[in-house]
Amino acid sequence: MPAPGTSADLPLLDAVVIGAGQAGLSAAYHLQRLALDFVVLDANDAPGGAWQHRWDSLTMHDVHGVADLPGMPVPDFDPAARANVTVPAYFGEYEARLGLPVERPVRVTSVAPEAPGPDAPLVVTTTAGCWRARSIVNATGTWDTPFLPFYPGARGFRGPQFHTAGYPGPEFFRGLRVVVVGGGASAVQFIGELADIAGSIAWVTRRTPVWRTGDFDPEAGREAVALVEERVRRGLPPKSVVSVTGLMLRPQERRAAELGIYAARRPMFTRVEADGVRWADGSFEPADAIVWATGFRPSVAHLRLLRLRGDAGGIQLEAPRDPHTFTTATRDRRIHFVGYGPSASTIGATRAGRVAALAVRDQLSVGP
Ligand code: FAD
Repeated sequence: MPAPGTSADLPLLDAVVIGAGQAGLSAAYHLQRLALDFVVLDANDAPGGAWQHRWDSLTMHDVHGVADLPGMPVPDFDPAARANVTVPAYFGEYEARLGLPVERPVRVTSVAPEAPGPDAPLVVTTTAGCWRARSIVNATGTWDTPFLPFYPGARGFRGPQFHTAGYPGPEFFRGLRVVVVGGGASAVQFIGELADIAGSIAWVTRRTPVWRTGDFDPEAGREAVALVEERVRRGLPPKSVVSVTGLMLRPQERRAAELGIYAARRPMFTRVEADGVRWADGSFEPADAIVWATGFRPSVAHLRLLRLRGDAGGIQLEAPRDPHTFTTATRDRRIHFVGYGPSASTIGATRAGRVAALAVRDQLSVGP
């Protein structure tokens, strides 16, 4: 690792990849094949990206599928195995087998141009010194930026409250009256596994959930991705791909469905009280615990000095080579995003890694 010093003393890399999840590893594979000079900086202590932090009860049977990393297909996962062990083991083997230059734990705190002008080197400041590069592949995912909406009274609630990122597993909730907040796949899964364990479950969502009735085939997947593509093309904040696919009930959730928990879903309450939640009409649901399955936002705070956000509130991206893979920041073509917006799924991240690496090579070949 480089010692902190003045940036001009540092070697100039072709690229710094930030993050070593599915997105960063895919980009790294292709940068390596293109013989570019790069490093991957990852804030975690160990391989596995966000997968290493998923809750213990999430098995390979529960996940929606993990796409192959380029050049090394996923092994035959045991459906009963814990996702937070199995996927990190695959990533770890991948890094080792390919000899990828991953440095960890290294958290990037800021990225800034060394000088004015669109081709100036970028200085990457981290918790372990500085790096200098001609381009950035940002692959930081969302897990580090949980979204917790504000509701009056939440701090005065007497029981425990968890966001998805800190969900302790079903046993914690045995016999408790639980309010699950959020209209995404995580909320549906939590309710499924709490159905026979919790004392009672109340489900609240901001919008009426949209249930998917047909199969989730490749065409449905493409349609969902196209919706998010359109948002980043217009510079809007991206939605998660999962949020536009519609919700599905799987066999694991059958019991909760039979108990009518999903059907009894209510709109958001207006305030949290010490012992429960209250709606505007005065109705009250007693609760011992609240689970906020309210999603995540892209982890991009370290890029703020680059001023990539436009008036529409998001980071506008363009598709450098393939009309359906948006990776390059319109406001600064040195910055490439993988696993962001339409590529925020394991399959999308794998594909976008290739496009971003090729875009880096193109950028360097037309640069100074
Ligand atoms: P991550 O895996 O989050 O990796 C990002 C890495 O960047 C991390 O190692 C992190 O430490 C690092 N990092 C972050 N900030 C910094 C920084 N400032 N400096 C240095 N490093 C940094 N998708 C599927 O296809 N199938 C599924 O079954 C599925 N299940 C999901 C379940 C949940 C609960 C969630 C939240 C998402 C799920 N997704 C699933 C989406 C999927 O996880 C992601 O799209 C994909 O795995 C993310 O990969 P990534 O590389 O973009 O991010």
